[in-house]
Amino acid sequence: MKKYDYLVVGAGLYGAVFAERAHKAGKSVLVIDKRSHIAGNVYTESIEDINVHVYGAHIFHTNDKEVWDYITDFAEFNRFTNSPVANYKGELYSLPFNMYTFNKMWGVVTPEQAERKIKEQREQAGITEPKNLEEQAISLVGTDIYEKLIKGYTEKQWGRPCKELPAFIIKRLPVRLVFDNNYFNAKYQGIPMGGYTKMVENMLDGVEVRLNEDYFDKKDYYDALAEKVIYTGAIDRYFNYKLGVLEYRSVRFETEVLDMPNYQGNAAVNYTDSETPYTRIIEHKWFEFGTQDKTVISKEYSSEWKVGDEPYYPINDDKNCELYAKYKALAEKESNVIFGGRLGEYKYYDMDAVIASALTLCKKEGVR
Ligand code: UDP
Repeated sequence: MKKYDYLVVGAGLYGAVFAERAHKAGKSVLVIDKRSHIAGNVYTESIEDINVHVYGAHIFHTNDKEVWDYITDFAEFNRFTNSPVANYKGELYSLPFNMYTFNKMWGVVTPEQAERKIKEQREQAGITEPKNLEEQAISLVGTDIYEKLIKGYTEKQWGRPCKELPAFIIKRLPVRLVFDNNYFNAKYQGIPMGGYTKMVENMLDGVEVRLNEDYFDKKDYYDALAEKVIYTGAIDRYFNYKLGVLEYRSVRFETEVLDMPNYQGNAAVNYTDSETPYTRIIEHKWFEFGTQDKTVISKEYSSEWKVGDEPYYPINDDKNCELYAKYKALAEKESNVIFGGRLGEYKYYDMDAVIASALTLCKKEGVR
């Protein structure tokens, strides 16, 4: 008999959900994380009494009632709705692409006129079966919107031409012929009041957590402690990159405290031209309708990732997907280790999908 039923490597959302459920079911659980804090990339830190999304903006949204019912046990969510504004060389447009956007871009007034305009531009570009992100974008919203609101932003974010990117990335963005600036097509949406860190803290209440602990520094020691390992770190790192390195995009934030109550009037403003070096500016107080005298903003710079940097977005192109499939086959042969989460599954996961996936594992493990 080992000391713990489960060792959870990584105190992010996936690990926290599993640890919470397993602990509730009476299992003994140890969570470790190499960082000095819990909550992984959803970690928020209070600066000037504003919850700052330290690893980038996280807006919770889901259509899955089970996930919503689960997560709202650990935090009360506010009514925040994500409505980013696009700034193209000083021209402002509503996102996601909707009637406000089409009206500003073309002066069209009715959905029929907007539809006609998009169709015209799609036909002019001669696209029937979109094969990459550029063709997908033009076929969804036409050339003008592609040029002003998509091309620059996407190429900055991914560091690759849109012609070389998979079409699915852009399918995240809804296109609507109605006047609705709500970014997400989700039944439930909001930000946990008091911050994500508090929410994860509530999930891990009563669970043993060790911070500043790198699993790979003491792998044998930790493996000997638990019957099973739930590993939420990078899958290629686990195997010492022996088949090659899975690629990511990384992000760097320049965060500033400003002595003014309102910098940009919105939580997110995307800079969609190719010259501005950052992709977007987040003004954190607006996630919680802040009334503080000061404000905190983060400029988000996208960068190429190399081993040792923080991995953010998996690059799910063919090359990386093939490599991931090989690692996955190795992972399946690894006895008593389960790989999960964004890094463990090399997946561009939204938070609700991470929770759903962790809950599925809980069911399999009999701790739901
Ligand atoms: N995107 C874009 N213009 C924008 C915002 C997003 O072209 O103003 C594209 C871009 O390709 C991006 C994708 O939509 O990679 C998904 O963006 P989203 O903001 O949903 O991604 P997040 O970074 O929030 O996960």
